[in-house]
Amino acid sequence: MVLAELGGSIARALSRMSNATVVDEKVLADCLNEICRALLQADVRFETVRDVKANIKRVVNLDALAAGTNKRRIIQQAVVDEIRRMLDPGKPSFTPSKGKPNLVMFVGLQGSGKTTTCTKYADYHRRKGFNPALVCADTFRAGAFDQLKQNATKAKIPFYGSYTESDPVKIAVEGVDMFRKEKCDLIIVDTSGRHKQEAALFEEMRQVSEATKPDLVIFVMDGSIGQAAFDQAQAFKQSASVGAVIVTKMDGHAKGGGALSAVAATKSPVIFIGTGEHILDFEVFEVNPFVSRLLG
Ligand code: GDP
Repeated sequence: MVLAELGGSIARALSRMSNATVVDEKVLADCLNEICRALLQADVRFETVRDVKANIKRVVNLDALAAGTNKRRIIQQAVVDEIRRMLDPGKPSFTPSKGKPNLVMFVGLQGSGKTTTCTKYADYHRRKGFNPALVCADTFRAGAFDQLKQNATKAKIPFYGSYTESDPVKIAVEGVDMFRKEKCDLIIVDTSGRHKQEAALFEEMRQVSEATKPDLVIFVMDGSIGQAAFDQAQAFKQSASVGAVIVTKMDGHAKGGGALSAVAATKSPVIFIGTGEHILDFEVFEVNPFVSRLLG
């Protein structure tokens, strides 16, 4: 997995620093430069990398450390804390709980993997004992309903949509009402994606959200878009109350930095990553195991 590659590079930089006979300013600078290079290569944006370096340097003040202090340990901890801070916005996302109707709305650009991810998310929760259902509120793209219908049928998940209705708000409200009556406890609303961030898309998203009042808005982002991730994620955050991120296509050319940028831009955690086209190519993303591995 690509984030593991980034983790590996950071772990190597830390271990080289640890193996140095004496930890002085030069060793610290080399270590930080190596970590920054790895982050930049992973497509983390320059401004973020600059902040990471400055924050670590602020915490690790070698001159001020008393003799006998374990400098290696202090540097390692500062790096790990900073990487954790990048990945963990500090507030957990809403998680569906059984026995109540949970409503989750998916947003993202066309082609990001939104529809595929809706089905993966539904299937994941069904395996956990939920009774999920899918609503296709994408009336913009011809074929969107057919695609959701096909995915849902294959996964044996109930779905709702229309070939003729052009008002996404009406479909969303109808679908949500219907599945609430049927006692589905996880209703997932798939919304329209456009090719680029455009005002009409954001307005539609806002209207669907206002009419259905989701418990959670999940922003789906293609992990391979690299440096463009921050601006895209920020634009969605500004128009919808994004509460969590799912990064897709982490099996392809994605380098991991996109995920870090999406967290920074939305101040929301990455909850899952997509690792392929199949319904089971879907992994829970947890910060702690990732960060623990940095220390080897
Ligand atoms: P939408 O337009 O955002 O709804 O995107 P789709 O769900 O139609 O997905 C666009 C394409 O990306 C499809 O060919 C999916 O099979 C593919 N896709 C979605 N998620 C992943 C993923 O995690 N890995 C890979 N390799 N392909 C994915």
